[in-house]
Amino acid sequence: MIVTKRKSYKKATERLFESLGDRKVILKGDQKFMASFDSSKLSFEYDALIRARADKDVGIVLKLANEYKVPVTARGAGTSLTGSASPVIGGWVLDFSRMNRITIKKEKAMAVVQPGAVVGVIQEAAEAKGLFYPPDPSSLKYCTIGGNIACNAGGMRCAKYGVTRDFVLALEGYLPNGEKVSWGGEYKKFATGYNIRDLWIGSEGTLGVVTKAVLRLLPKPESRWTCVAAFETERKALSSVKALLGEGATPSILEYLDENSVYCAEDIAGVRLFKEVGGKPLLLIEFDGSRDELKSAKRIVAKWAKQWALAFKDARTEKAAENLWEVRRKCSGAMFAMGDAKINEDIVVPLESQLKFSDFVRRLQKRWNLPMPTFGHAADGNFHVNIMFHREDKEEMHRAEGAVSDLMKKVVALGGTISGEHGIGLAKSPFMRVARNEAEIAAMRAIKKALDPNGILNPGKLFDVFEVWSRKPVKVALPWDKKPILRKD
Ligand SMILES: Cc1cc2nc3c(=O)[nH]c(=O)nc-3n(C[C@H](O)[C@H](O)[C@H](O)COP(=O)(O)OP(=O)(O)OC[C@H]3O[C@@H](n4cnc5c(N)ncnc54)[C@H](O)[C@@H]3O)c2cc1C
Repeated sequence: MIVTKRKSYKKATERLFESLGDRKVILKGDQKFMASFDSSKLSFEYDALIRARADKDVGIVLKLANEYKVPVTARGAGTSLTGSASPVIGGWVLDFSRMNRITIKKEKAMAVVQPGAVVGVIQEAAEAKGLFYPPDPSSLKYCTIGGNIACNAGGMRCAKYGVTRDFVLALEGYLPNGEKVSWGGEYKKFATGYNIRDLWIGSEGTLGVVTKAVLRLLPKPESRWTCVAAFETERKALSSVKALLGEGATPSILEYLDENSVYCAEDIAGVRLFKEVGGKPLLLIEFDGSRDELKSAKRIVAKWAKQWALAFKDARTEKAAENLWEVRRKCSGAMFAMGDAKINEDIVVPLESQLKFSDFVRRLQKRWNLPMPTFGHAADGNFHVNIMFHREDKEEMHRAEGAVSDLMKKVVALGGTISGEHGIGLAKSPFMRVARNEAEIAAMRAIKKALDPNGILNPGKLFDVFEVWSRKPVKVALPWDKKPILRKD
């Protein structure tokens, strides 16, 4: 099916405005424009921005949307890197930034939160009560729990603690037809019918809209220990990961930086950890837990480092730990010296395929003649391949797209998958058929049809790209970026 030109939802929008008023429904201006795109920088025209303040607003919006078949895109902070929060076929954007209440229930070790609560703020609120919310996407200062749940966000601490899904006990929200539902409650066990909570998690706002979540919290770890090791080669660094995990070590963080990423941090950003062996691939490792647990971790790591590492350093103080982190923090921004645009992929490969994957990335860079600094979460095989190019240079941009296509096919061939944490959205939907077979896509579509028969929730995402790709993104000049990257039809 080819979608025709964007419809105007004039009548529906008038009724929406009558129901919610001008404080909640914004029809023009900067605020509305800023919600026309997310961090993918794909911007689309749409009819109304809705600033929800209470659950019942959401019910009203969805009931009307269903009646008039208006597309609705839920929105947290708009940090999605895939276009999942961009309103690709127009309609309404339902913004949750005003619904951001957080209640920490210490005796239950739970947080009850509204979807617009910022993840970093939830973490701080938990820590203030001696508790701990582990999922830590790098965007945590801005992104919301609603967006994290919808994308099943990950982060560095996944190595030990897992992803957002592992901390969601219950969800409350609305079906696309505007009926209120809750999947679970403030309890840790439920065996009461289908687990639709888990279907909503990672569904990128296509199956339901979250208005409340109950999160599991852990006791705050007593202390942490950070160390970094440099290796002769990338192969050696990655082989050592398997060896370390094989020794029974359970690092909370195990970050890998390839030679290109280290070059960015050291030669461009000027952070040098090892004067004697600069430029070598690194592993940045952190353990947390009780003092006894850290003692045993230190023993395992000392033996391991002797066998595998070219150089090794650990941090005795919090400040020293922060210094070790500099290299990882600075490499990402420094990459822009290699090109003013980056496609940041977040593929996953199983542990046993990591060496083949690293060899492949080297070949990929040669084949497409583009730098691709790669770093990531080595313990769970979730690597960020950063394909750098110059946006002015059309030919370079085509090469970058060619490289993405090769990468997607290869990770699937290596037994991995095309996204570990950012999700599919628009950017990766052309590759859903690489990652999923026809039967799997048909099953997903059947679920979508059953829960959202009118197809109003975030249409055009996940597997619908073929249906909407005929619509051109609108060219916009962003305040910080005069020339956004626009995908071709
Ligand atoms: C600098 C940077 C670093 C990042 N690092 C990481 C990282 O380490 N790990 C990681 O996983 N991601 C990372 N991301 C990606 C992004 O931050 C995550 O995908 C995050 O989960 C998006 O949250 P958000 O609040 O911005 O959601 P948005 O971008 O607004 O929306 C994302 C999706 O969630 C849906 N949604 C939002 N609210 C609701 C709701 N209430 N109900 C239903 N659906 C909803 C939207 O429709 C959309 O599909 C990074 C992004 C940036 C820009």
